[in-house]
Formats: sequence, structure tokens, C-alpha cells
Amino acid sequence: MIEVDAVSQLQSGLAGFNWDQCNQCGKCSSGCPAARYLDLRPRRIVAMTQRDLVAEILESDVVWMCAQCLQCVERCPSDVTPYDIIISLQNRAVRDGFFYPEGLTKMLASVKRLGAIQPPMEIVDREFEIYDRESLDLPEIRRPKELEKFVEALEKVMEGS
Ligand code: SF4
Ligand code: SF4
Repeated sequence: MIEVDAVSQLQSGLAGFNWDQCNQCGKCSSGCPAARYLDLRPRRIVAMTQRDLVAEILESDVVWMCAQCLQCVERCPSDVTPYDIIISLQNRAVRDGFFYPEGLTKMLASVKRLGAIQPPMEIVDREFEIYDRESLDLPEIRRPKELEKFVEALEKVMEGS
């Protein structure tokens, strides 16, 4: 098992994070779509984080089930932010070599190469007419003006510096 000093690192990484205020009321889990259909329970994530059981969480794929809908933040009566904890745990998983979805590596490679997860795509209608953004009168997709500097900044963020 990889050792992680979870409590101090999570606390230092999250301003305004009231994790000690959680009274385990369960309102976050009852509104969570990932709890309804998958194994993610924000209430349990907060409880395990409080008990410094972060390594156990990161050894599973549970934090990657979050749909980022923010229901748990909206519903919490104690101003705890399970969503922020989950995002922080995702960052920790990548940084500390725990499980993370393979698709993330591909997305990151694409962002570094193109400045976007994927290039704008054309669409085809029922008559097999092809449309691009220009023909649909849509604005150009914004991308980093200086890709090299953007990638440099991105790498610094990923290293946590
Ligand atoms: S809603 Fe807030 S207080 Fe209730 S269990 Fe979830 S995080 Fe804890
Ligand atoms: S943000 Fe994630 S954990 Fe919170 S309710 Fe939505 S899916 Fe569940």
C-alpha cells in the first residue's frame, strides 16, 4: 500500500473546506446520481477521509464515478464540499500513482497536442449534407494562443508546483 498523509495534504490543498463539520446526515448521498447507479457514496468518502482511510479509497476506482453535478455541495446543510474532496482525491490518485482511467492519459495527450480534448468535428444531416462550424455560423473554438507556453503551464500544474 502506498503511504499517503491524506489529512494534512487535503486540508492544505482546499481552502474553505469544512470536512470536520460533516455529521453524516446522508443528504449528499441521497441526491447523488452516482450513488443511485454506481458505488460512489459522497457521505462515505467524507467519513473515510476524516478517518484518514484515503489510501483505501484511492485503491478503488470509486472517485472516478463522480459526475461532477455538485448536488452534494448544494444539499449539504453543514457546508461540507464532498465534490471538492473527490476532485482532490482524483488529483492525488494521478500524482501518487494510484488507479486512474486510461482515457485521461489520452485526453491529456490531446490537450497538449491540440490545446483541446478533441478538434471541432463535422456533422452530417439526414440528407448526408456535411456541416462544419463555419457553415453553421458558429464562432471558432478558442484555443491557447501559444501552445508551448500553455503546455509548460499545464505541466507545472500537474506537478503541483
Ligand atoms: S450532506 Fe454534508 S453533512 Fe451530510 S453527510 Fe454529506 S457531507 Fe456530511
Ligand atoms: S458532484 Fe459527484 S459526488 Fe457530488 S453529488 Fe454529484 S456525482 Fe455525487
